[in-house]
Amino acid sequence: MLSHLTKCCIVGGGPGGAILALLLARQGIEVTLLEQHSSFDRDFRGDVFHSSVMEIVDQLGLIDSLFQIPHTKIYSAVVDSPAGTITLDFGMIRSKFPHLTTINQSHFLEFIITEASRYKHFRHIMNAKVISLVEENDQVCGVRFRKDQAQYEVRSEITVAADGRYSTMRKLAGMEPVALTRPIDVIWFRIPRQTTDPEHLFNRSKNSSMLACVNRGEHWQMGMFIQKGTYPEIQRQGIHSFQQTLSELVPEFSERFALLTDWKQISILSASSSRLKKWYMPGLMFIGDAAHTMSPLGAVGINYAIQDAVVTANVLARPLREGNVSLKHLASIQKQRELSTKIIQGYQSLMQKQIIDPVLKNKNSTVGFKLVKRFRWLRKIMVILVGSGFKRVRIQEKPM
Ligand SMILES: Cc1cc2nc3c(=O)[nH]c(=O)nc-3n(C[C@H](O)[C@H](O)[C@H](O)COP(=O)(O)OP(=O)(O)OC[C@H]3O[C@@H](n4cnc5c(N)ncnc54)[C@H](O)[C@@H]3O)c2cc1C
Repeated sequence: MLSHLTKCCIVGGGPGGAILALLLARQGIEVTLLEQHSSFDRDFRGDVFHSSVMEIVDQLGLIDSLFQIPHTKIYSAVVDSPAGTITLDFGMIRSKFPHLTTINQSHFLEFIITEASRYKHFRHIMNAKVISLVEENDQVCGVRFRKDQAQYEVRSEITVAADGRYSTMRKLAGMEPVALTRPIDVIWFRIPRQTTDPEHLFNRSKNSSMLACVNRGEHWQMGMFIQKGTYPEIQRQGIHSFQQTLSELVPEFSERFALLTDWKQISILSASSSRLKKWYMPGLMFIGDAAHTMSPLGAVGINYAIQDAVVTANVLARPLREGNVSLKHLASIQKQRELSTKIIQGYQSLMQKQIIDPVLKNKNSTVGFKLVKRFRWLRKIMVILVGSGFKRVRIQEKPM
């Protein structure tokens, strides 16, 4: 078995793993990033980026280059509620980037990896599926991965598991997350967008269905929230019935819904949220969805994974350079990130209970909506929590 040595081995090339790799490589720290897929292509896996991510990219001096990639800026969300229409204005966030930015996630990842590749301490292995941990003296000291039928080993001072919601690393380490919300399903699809369509993000709800519509420039990305396990019944009723449900929700788009003629144009994904009690063990740190799976409500998972990555780099860069990473450092990462994560997951859970569940059960509840509609400060808190997080995170170390 071929083996190589690095300072930090990161498992998972999603937003969290990619940003952490870039931050460490910039500071002259040897880092190896392992990604099981052979490309970054992924459909419907979160393309909405909030202000906090743009601020971090700006701090890296890369914002102008990032904005060369096709993207859309969204300045408000219009929520259709039983208490009437509520507008959430992202301008309420005090930021240089008071908007949502939608960018194809695969383009974003390619951009970050291309930037990281400029640093000689960065090593990136695609098509590398981690299958086991390397452990010695009750300490994780690397991983084994499979690539092209062969097995390899990476030994490292610290291993960071950034391998997402279905984390293999969690299972390998015997860590069990605590489930926080009842899972629901989301049906994802896209329809063309016309220049006369609204710019803002919006939702519509009616008869046990809720549809979120995200402006992606030339198309609308649409996510329909449904009760867990009801997709087979929707399919059984046929695609025309599905088109009709959509047309009742957004009548002005009904001609375009007719373009959905095959279930292959549609993806179904489970939405749930959970969190590990302890995000680390000797030699191993969990970040992003691997530590705290985020529901797509509010589209915050990328922010929080990237903020974890920034804090991880802030805390670990120096001890990695000096060769003295300890449990104290890993505990500090969890401490710095846990409260923000608990708050946003609590907020997501509240949104699910107050907004999504009543709609899916066809029980209109206006209390929460009335409060949000009435109080600007409440809308401001909602927008800030989602856009920047409870606590702003900034990169602390400078590149070598
Ligand atoms: C349908 C849907 C829509 C969403 N929309 C948004 C949105 O618009 N905005 C937003 O902020 N969040 C959104 N989210 C949440 C968001 O996608 C995640 O929270 C975010 O991607 C987490 O980043 P991460 O780096 O922790 O993990 P991930 O992005 O999940 O990346 C993990 C990586 O690890 C790799 N990996 C897994 N196992 C292994 C292994 N054994 N070996 C090697 N590599 C491995 C995976 O291939 C993957 O590339 C959405 C989630 C879903 C399900």
